Amino acid sequence: MKIIYAPWRMDYLMQDKSKINECVFCVEDKSFDNKYMLYRGKYSFIKLNMFPYNCGHTLVIPYVHTKELNNLSYEAGAEIMLLISKSCDILTEVYKCDGINVGLNLGKAAGAGIEKHLHFHIIPRWEGDVSFYSTCSDLRVVCELLDDTYAKLINHFKGLEI
Ligand SMILES: [Zn+2]
Repeated sequence: MKIIYAPWRMDYLMQDKSKINECVFCVEDKSFDNKYMLYRGKYSFIKLNMFPYNCGHTLVIPYVHTKELNNLSYEAGAEIMLLISKSCDILTEVYKCDGINVGLNLGKAAGAGIEKHLHFHIIPRWEGDVSFYSTCSDLRVVCELLDDTYAKLINHFKGLEI
């Protein structure tokens, strides 16, 4: 049997089970001190993805609970685009990545893990970061712990001005 260590999942396992049926992004919105929260804007917030596809995987999430792009106000949409842009700048500076995937999965068929609340993915990429593990065994290697990612990024996001 193979063993893969993912110590950040312990927080998920130990969480208050009474909140399991609540929208995870709406629950996270309620406290600025929430773990891995990077920035709070007027209409949206930025936090690390708890289940990253790659190092530095960040999410921009509107406060409004919706799965429809049409339900975002013009102001919310504009802020989200600005926060995505600023996040790309910070991730490029900190991680010296070769490229970035920016994406939105609308609906389960499109790959949305949490389809009831919109969230935009920002994923740093490096040339050759898809190893043979991903190709041959449907396994992705994330080479940094979330606590380390957070420690690298938080001061950059604290100084963010929009
Ligand atoms: Zn929600």
